[in-house]
Amino acid sequence: MTYDEFVKKFAETAETVGDTVGKAANTAVKKGGELAEIAKLTLQKNNARQERDRRLISLGSLVYAARGGVELSETDMEKLYAELDTLTENIETLDAKIAKLRNSKTCMKCGRSVAKDYSYCPVCGEKF
Ligand SMILES: [Zn+2]
Repeated sequence: MTYDEFVKKFAETAETVGDTVGKAANTAVKKGGELAEIAKLTLQKNNARQERDRRLISLGSLVYAARGGVELSETDMEKLYAELDTLTENIETLDAKIAKLRNSKTCMKCGRSVAKDYSYCPVCGEKF
């Protein structure tokens, strides 16, 4: 399977999931308030994470196929890396927005959400 076939296949799945999630997000937003906004952002973040996971599976499959003698396309690989970079940035941006709404911050070491006034991460001990 080529990279484009991978993307097409996964995009079809993502569209179905996206529709359901999109409807849920719309319903949530209608209820209004900060909690709904957090719910919407969390759904977007989960979508981005799923997308990133799919790309990572594609990457792994391509690398494994290359080991078996299939030639890797430099263009496909660059496209995949660029998409992974974008999705990672999106996830980080959404994380920051969610943390701000929750009046919390994200530990840079373990990634957990921690109340804003904490000096140390209660999970990993990282000093802020
Ligand atoms: Zn931590």
